[in-house]
Amino acid sequence: MPYRGRFAPSPTGPLHAGSLVAALASWLDARAHGGTWLVRIEDVDTPRCIPGADRLILDQLAACGLVSDEPVVWQSQRDTLYQAALDRLIAQGAAYPCACSRQDIERALLASGAPRERHHAAVYPGTCRPENGGLQGRSPRAWRLRVPDAARVDWTDSRLGPQSQDVARDVGDFILRRADGLWAYQLAVVVDDAAQGITHVVRGEDLADNTPRQILLQRALGLPTPLYRHTPLVLGDNGEKLSKQNGAQALDLSDPLAALNAAARVLGLPARAGTVGAVDAVLRDWTADWAALTARAPRP
Ligand code: GLU
Repeated sequence: MPYRGRFAPSPTGPLHAGSLVAALASWLDARAHGGTWLVRIEDVDTPRCIPGADRLILDQLAACGLVSDEPVVWQSQRDTLYQAALDRLIAQGAAYPCACSRQDIERALLASGAPRERHHAAVYPGTCRPENGGLQGRSPRAWRLRVPDAARVDWTDSRLGPQSQDVARDVGDFILRRADGLWAYQLAVVVDDAAQGITHVVRGEDLADNTPRQILLQRALGLPTPLYRHTPLVLGDNGEKLSKQNGAQALDLSDPLAALNAAARVLGLPARAGTVGAVDAVLRDWTADWAALTARAPRP
């Protein structure tokens, strides 16, 4: 199958040093495989999106020599695809409506005597599952995936090596469509990766623990599972992951090569100098470096 990769930023702010690492790695991996690289704007979580951030991100990428090989798609325009996937899951009995608020979930967990560490709102106790009585006259707020009881997912990350998660125990029946009517990241990303024929997902390590949920959804929808590679995170001065939420600076585009070199260092690639405007030549050299680096076995 021909290699197809993607970079899928959420337009919640401009690109920063951390997001450039994922962008560069996904681009290099696609080029090293002679593949196609796509950009997809993940703007389903509209309250978190900042108007104009999508265009800014695309301009920042272009300044770094990273340009989508096919027209960019916006998730906010792909409602029909997500609805069709949800309808399919509903028809199969793999998704069910949920009327629970956060407080309802907390109360149910307390009543069940579940250990405290499982009270995190993400672990849903299954109150609205049809076999537990369903909505019981309450109005549906959200839709959830019915996670199979034996839902241990084993997968191999090309950088992190073998990974495993019991989704039923660690996550529970997760949200596909939110109470506010917005599509959940998990559903949108799985539908789009399949619709765009993505064979390789290269993204930041902070997303690694979403992968088992995405694999379960792929299985439920009969979609292929891409290969996954999670790249190192850039840590801020406080030791936490650099993110738009903790005030990461937008990339300084006056010197794209400096920004690219900082990202390359995180990926274990050698520093490369170039004259202004020589971004493409530097990217070509890194493509060969990347091919050599990733040919080695995953980290133990
Ligand atoms: N849109 C997600 C983010 O910006 C990335 C999704 C993905 O690469 O799967 O964090």
